[in-house]
Amino acid sequence: MRKIAAALAVLLVALVVVVTVRTMRFAPAKSEARRDVTLPEVNDSLLATHLAGAIRFPTISKQDSGPELVPMRALHAYLAQTFPRTYATLGHEVVAPASLLFRWTGADTTLEPIVMMSHMDVVPVEAGSESAWTHPPFSGDIADGFVWGRGTLDDKVGVLSTLEAVEALVARGYRPRRTVYLAFGDDEEVEGKGAGAIVALLKSRGVHPLVAIDEGSAIVRGIIPNISRPAALIGIAEKGHMSVKLTVTSAGGHSSMPPAQTAVGVLAQAIDRLEKHPLPARLDGAVAGMLAELGREMPLSSRVAMANLWLTRPLVIGSMSRSAATNASLRTTTAPTMIQGSPKENVLPIRAQAIVNFRIIPGETPESVVEHVRKVVDDTTVAITLAEPATPPSPVSSTTSAAYRTLARDITVLEPDAIVAPSLVIGATDSRQYAGYARDVYRFLPMQIGPADLERIHGTNERIDVHDYARGVAFMTLLISDLSSQ
Ligand SMILES: [Zn+2]
Repeated sequence: MRKIAAALAVLLVALVVVVTVRTMRFAPAKSEARRDVTLPEVNDSLLATHLAGAIRFPTISKQDSGPELVPMRALHAYLAQTFPRTYATLGHEVVAPASLLFRWTGADTTLEPIVMMSHMDVVPVEAGSESAWTHPPFSGDIADGFVWGRGTLDDKVGVLSTLEAVEALVARGYRPRRTVYLAFGDDEEVEGKGAGAIVALLKSRGVHPLVAIDEGSAIVRGIIPNISRPAALIGIAEKGHMSVKLTVTSAGGHSSMPPAQTAVGVLAQAIDRLEKHPLPARLDGAVAGMLAELGREMPLSSRVAMANLWLTRPLVIGSMSRSAATNASLRTTTAPTMIQGSPKENVLPIRAQAIVNFRIIPGETPESVVEHVRKVVDDTTVAITLAEPATPPSPVSSTTSAAYRTLARDITVLEPDAIVAPSLVIGATDSRQYAGYARDVYRFLPMQIGPADLERIHGTNERIDVHDYARGVAFMTLLISDLSSQ
């Protein structure tokens, strides 16, 4: 008995030692901030005026009709007029119907090129919400230190900051060593066909990009629990999505003599099972990479857990699963969204149908999700089909590539205090078209996003701070020259 107690005591001490040592080693990383360069000088008010001008074209993508070509072509003309050096120096073409592709030929054409991506379309303003805007959504007003309007955060900021950077580099006489493409899609907010057409064109020309940089993540402040420093999150992967249709058929008839369970009842049971049996959590890939960086900066109690995932994994998963936001970065999510039964209250349904939307985490596939649905529903009277073609999750890009290191180091010039960390993008971006094509894809815009900004993206009162935007342009200038000169 005493021997067992002694052995247990030794084990306990060993455990405490291991946990303590791992926690102590898991301290904030030494800053690798670049001190050899500073951001180039920029003219805040001129840059704001240019961005504001682009906001005034209502290049709205509607769900069923694709991009609005008239404002889109007017935007093209505006860009040509605003960035004359870029248009005079770079090859440029319209990729039908209205995407733009620029080519800045590098001095060494044997090197793989880089692709700077953005999109020119915006989401509509929700009907009835116009009056809630402090400045009308397409006014492009500059007031109180902000440029106001739809597209200031998503994603005319990307288009304009990229063009400003190139314009400045051309003016400076810079010539890239590696070819640079600028690829601006016309319908990211609906289908991303524009980005797909650009990729098809580049492929047909035998182009093999080293890296594609797109929107999708930013510098966040006050959004991640337990993290007080700004966090520059580089999206190294993004989730896929698919919608599964569940269909139950039955004889129908009058509702006065129903069977024990109608088609609606069978369907409801299937949906209930799916909600009660979510797909398993995965703490790997981009999210594990993020926790490895951010975890070091957390208060001691969280840091102990993050440093000792070998022991605390179930606890961490349990705690992350409790919030919808963190749960979404942990697993493939299950969301029943649409349901339909009979057309009349006294008619038994001949057919009941539901749509369940899944956001697929890297590591899983549309096929593995369908397999999960079959297993959980476990009812052969429920037909399981795809509602539309599935988009698989993206590959996970490297965090040790030269491009990633350049991006991370340039971010420290913009924001010396930021923790730079890889991350998983929950939504979809145009960069999914580069999956398996560009060697690596990084999703990052040099924007500052606080808690109040989250609801402005696709929401009301979208706006960007004039000074932050100008610093973002300076960052893009540094990034494009660094990526294209190595
Ligand atoms: Zn966007």
